[in-house]
Amino acid sequence: MKTSIIPIFIPHIGCPYRCVFCNQWRITGHQGVPRAASVAAQIARYTEGVQEQRHWEVAFYGGSFTAIPAALQEELLAPAKEALDQGRIAAIRCSTRPDCITPETLQRLSQYGLTIVELGVQSMDAVVLNKAKRGHSADDVVRATCLLRSAGFTVGHQLMPGLPGEDRASLVRTTAAICRLKPDLARIYPVAVIDGTELAESYKQGDYRPLSIHEGVQRAAYMKQRFLETGIPVIRTGLQATCDLDDPSQVLGGAYTPAMGELVDTKRYQKQLFSVLDTVADQVMAIACNRHDISRTRGYHKVTVKRAALRYKRSFTWQEDNGLPEGTIAVRTANREYHIETSAGTVQCKNTEG
Ligand code: SF4
Repeated sequence: MKTSIIPIFIPHIGCPYRCVFCNQWRITGHQGVPRAASVAAQIARYTEGVQEQRHWEVAFYGGSFTAIPAALQEELLAPAKEALDQGRIAAIRCSTRPDCITPETLQRLSQYGLTIVELGVQSMDAVVLNKAKRGHSADDVVRATCLLRSAGFTVGHQLMPGLPGEDRASLVRTTAAICRLKPDLARIYPVAVIDGTELAESYKQGDYRPLSIHEGVQRAAYMKQRFLETGIPVIRTGLQATCDLDDPSQVLGGAYTPAMGELVDTKRYQKQLFSVLDTVADQVMAIACNRHDISRTRGYHKVTVKRAALRYKRSFTWQEDNGLPEGTIAVRTANREYHIETSAGTVQCKNTEG
């Protein structure tokens, strides 16, 4: 069944600090504090009149939900709980900070039927966290993740490659630390420099060099691939496009493109495909994939098809084969077939002769 999110934006509400990269008014395109009536209205607006069965989830995003006053949390949760009890929605989720998770808060969330908590982790490197003025430590992430897990919540981690102070070694350490914690899901948002943030000022002063889109794709692809190999589903890569984010006067630099998710998957698939093509001695007859993988396999705007033609000085036959599982690329020669399991990062070779 299709999952559909009913977003309730709480921009910067509850945030004890202002992180250097963050401007939720721009990222979410919303301002102000929602109240119970607006939550109820939003649920009705999304769900009423929809004929097909959907897995509706109410999501409190854009602030630090568990850090807002308890009375407001309860006011906002009450209409969501009512809709949950009536079967109009299937789940409630929120995002918050790792240092704002306590047993008492989790008890409140549970009472109101909230089951999924996403933590703004960003990095597990103390230098990066300090420069971003996050006001929490990597230990807070470990503690919050353990508390959430032992209370039975689904735990999500949100990561931001490209923050000030992050280099390749730092990215690798953060990725390894998250893989050890193994959250139930992850989102990866390469840093975009958004107007009205401290990071934008550092950028204007020449004190911060943002990632290019190419660098953002590389870092996010590395992180996503490691997460998938560890069994951590990555449910989003790159910021959701909004009118504000698509306005160049609002995004001053960094790795923002509405196509980030596709570019990252293009990179992951291409790297694995080329590593097989580089080593196959026989003549490759065809490259095949399930129809759901066509754009990832052939690449965003067919970039992989074009690069393969240049790199191997020949045109390949690109096939759709819906007998292949999603996520698998098959490289076919006259007597062998190589199956690249892209999420696992593994390759299996089968003889197809006779
Ligand atoms: S990143 Fe999270 S905690 Fe920091 S200012 Fe933005 S919403 Fe608040």
